[in-house]
Amino acid sequence: MRWKILKAGLLAEGSACLKGEPAEGYISASTAGPGAGGRGSVFFSRKGRRVRLALDPESSIRINHMGKGNAVLNYQGREIAGILEPVAHHCPRQAYLTVSSGCIFSCQYCDVPNQPQRRKTIDEIVAMIEDVKDRIDAISLTSGVMGNVEEEEEYVLEVVRRLSGSGVPIGVSIYPTERTADRLHELGVAEVKFNVEAATEDLFARMCPGLSLKAIWRTLEQSVPLFGRNHVFSNLIIGLGETDQEAESCIRDLTRAGVIPVVRPLFPTAACRSFIRPSKERLLSLYEIHSKALEEAGLDPSQAMTMCSACTGCDMVPGRD
Ligand code: SF4
Repeated sequence: MRWKILKAGLLAEGSACLKGEPAEGYISASTAGPGAGGRGSVFFSRKGRRVRLALDPESSIRINHMGKGNAVLNYQGREIAGILEPVAHHCPRQAYLTVSSGCIFSCQYCDVPNQPQRRKTIDEIVAMIEDVKDRIDAISLTSGVMGNVEEEEEYVLEVVRRLSGSGVPIGVSIYPTERTADRLHELGVAEVKFNVEAATEDLFARMCPGLSLKAIWRTLEQSVPLFGRNHVFSNLIIGLGETDQEAESCIRDLTRAGVIPVVRPLFPTAACRSFIRPSKERLLSLYEIHSKALEEAGLDPSQAMTMCSACTGCDMVPGRD
């Protein structure tokens, strides 16, 4: 089975039941990203390509860990040999850290506001990175908004200042203020991600009350000349109620602006718990649309050094999958 077809099928299910040898070191327990706060997830990989699956004993997809990371994935009666990748922080090969867990906003699809609020100290972050420095290619930072947007940005900038000189590229994804792009660029951040989240303005307003889509777009447009094409990203969630045409139009708006869309299947949680994950067929058809839009705009996600386009665990990524 071709990887992209397998991956679309795995992402449509989104989970796996893990059996076999103990898999400590291969399980990510995350406070951000799809499945935040759940039972954890694993990264199954085959021939250098990767998918992240949330652990769920009820899943129809089985992974048998044979020990030392060697694993066999069972999908629709087929046995597919691969490996479980060791996780650094949150994902393989990166220290992807959530600076502040907890948020004053309440995006409908996000479980972060329902988790215990906690901000990592800068010393704690430095120590976490020191722990994994021999097995990472990048540092990525994200954050909820604990007090207010300006204060959160100041704190994240302080974290970046302490991490500059770490010798690996740093990627940052936070909710922006007017000067976020400039300030991150001045500190030597390599890549940024500001998320449009939903395909249309109406959906965004419903899903992300209190957030400004205009501010996100303004920051994306400011970022492209600073960080360069192929180094500015934006998550677009699929499964919030958008049509394929609306998804395509949003993908094309982003690529025309020089931004790489991260086309992300919804992980139904929080107020979107009853929503349905997009099907394999829909993911494959959007993958084709996404690939074409990137190609026409001359954008290439395989150039990404940090965050989700470098990880690829949760999404179909043209140029990598
Ligand atoms: S794709 Fe992004 S959210 Fe998903 S595991 Fe990788 S870094 Fe985390």
